[in-house]
Amino acid sequence: MYKRIGILGGMSPESTVEYYQYITRSYTERFGDYGYPEILIYSVSFQPYVDWPERDRWDLVAQGLSDAAQKLEDAGADFIIIATNTMHLVFEQVQANVSIPMLSLLDAVGEAIVAQGMDTVGLLGTKFAMEKGFYQDALASKGIKVLVPDAADRDYVNDVIYNELVVGQSRHESRVRFVSIIQDLAARGAQGVILGCTEIPLLVSEADAGLPAFDTTAIHAEAALNYALAP
Ligand code: GLU
Repeated sequence: MYKRIGILGGMSPESTVEYYQYITRSYTERFGDYGYPEILIYSVSFQPYVDWPERDRWDLVAQGLSDAAQKLEDAGADFIIIATNTMHLVFEQVQANVSIPMLSLLDAVGEAIVAQGMDTVGLLGTKFAMEKGFYQDALASKGIKVLVPDAADRDYVNDVIYNELVVGQSRHESRVRFVSIIQDLAARGAQGVILGCTEIPLLVSEADAGLPAFDTTAIHAEAALNYALAP
């Protein structure tokens, strides 16, 4: 019996769907059958998780996600993943409120970067992921330096995430500007770029980016599958 995966999702639904598909399809590609681990998805109502960070009420984010995580634990999840980069700001607080393990996206992404032998990468994500410091701190502990776009480009990336990507829109103009922002990061020394928002891979691929890209949704979903399969 594999471990049952608990996905704390809905932030946004667009990326939660990608996690679910990635885990189930990846299993079938590897093993040729449909024996993937069981998955519980708890999809929060997204609006408070857009509003609370804007008001800097991370205490409410931590409380809400802890309540949701406890529901996953009560329902029988063996471990939990938070299916968003941004909400890893409160990862430790949520972990402290459940007794099952949680698998951090930041750890999985850091390991993927180290495995590529890189020490300097660019980061695109929400303004919270780019500006709050938790991403930089987590990767610095693995010897990785994180470069972020300038203020105007950070605002642009954040607006595209919340106004387009979370509702499933993928606009050509946005892709072109994202690629140009990634090229600027490369010119400043980034050896690769973290697509550090679980919806960005829906807009930009590694081929578009023109340099090695770390798809945080795929990396985190793969880590969850491996952990579920491990004895
Ligand atoms: N899914 C996004 C992320 O990976 C942003 C949505 C959110 O959690 O606020 O950061």
